[in-house]
Amino acid sequence: MIPSQSYTTKFIKKIKIARNIYSFYFKRPAEFDFIAGQYNRWTLPMTATDGRGSSRFFTISSPPSQKETFVVTTKIIQSDFKKELLELHENREIKIFGPMGQFVLDENNPDGNVFIAGGIGITPFHSILADAAAKNSDKLLTLFVSFPVPEDIIFFDELTQLTQAHQNIKVVYTITKPQDSQKSWNGETGRISEELIKKYVKDLSKSIFYIVGPPPIVEDTQKLLEDMKIPDDHIRTEQFSGY
Ligand SMILES: Cc1cc2nc3c(=O)[nH]c(=O)nc-3n(C[C@H](O)[C@H](O)[C@H](O)COP(=O)(O)OP(=O)(O)OC[C@H]3O[C@@H](n4cnc5c(N)ncnc54)[C@H](O)[C@@H]3O)c2cc1C
Repeated sequence: MIPSQSYTTKFIKKIKIARNIYSFYFKRPAEFDFIAGQYNRWTLPMTATDGRGSSRFFTISSPPSQKETFVVTTKIIQSDFKKELLELHENREIKIFGPMGQFVLDENNPDGNVFIAGGIGITPFHSILADAAAKNSDKLLTLFVSFPVPEDIIFFDELTQLTQAHQNIKVVYTITKPQDSQKSWNGETGRISEELIKKYVKDLSKSIFYIVGPPPIVEDTQKLLEDMKIPDDHIRTEQFSGY
């Protein structure tokens, strides 16, 4: 693993990619290396008055092959930290510490890899899939990701392009509350279930499963996989605590 250390980076720009969800671009220090799926601690130059502090952990949603910048993708809800993030000016310096985490693709697994994400939990998988595509990997990678309504979906165009260019990559979006949306949706609906997984993954017994999201989603999905008799050592999890 790459050793973690402190770096200074500069904010470049933000792009709104869905309702309340933004990607924040930072200058990647030349000496900073990471493995797709890893995260940093990001510290803003601020004094938080809401008692929640000035640092957060965020996965790097961009792939290591993107050398000039790295990207954080997050929901803007209500904390002082998120408000400050939204108001960052170009070239503002911020501190990071990283890279951290072992939630990376098991390169030794010759069989299928199944990624399961609730909403914003898609960020490490976006990096991992883009990395696999950049390396022309032939590993079987299947991502299942759920969002309440189509308006919340992120990375749709990028991931659709990846799946079209790389037959080993599949992405299944499912919408859990289609009735709450104004947009039409022809894809899968409902929560990520045994039935949905079996529809797209042929060899469950050999696959490694990776789950990411807010803690309740991770726990529910882990239980689902256990009920499907997936062995514990085939399940890897990362909890986005804080949501
Ligand atoms: C390893 C790891 C990787 C992560 N990667 C990502 C990532 O890629 N993207 C990402 O978005 N998150 C990620 N997270 C989660 C992230 O670190 C934050 O915890 C999360 O974004 C919530 O941020 P926030 O505390 O600023 O709260 P907000 O996003 O503002 O809100 C989250 C919740 O806290 C409540 N809340 C917020 N402020 C207040 C307040 N002042 N008073 C009362 N309640 C409040 C909100 O109502 C909401 O329920 C990751 C976490 C870990 C541990």
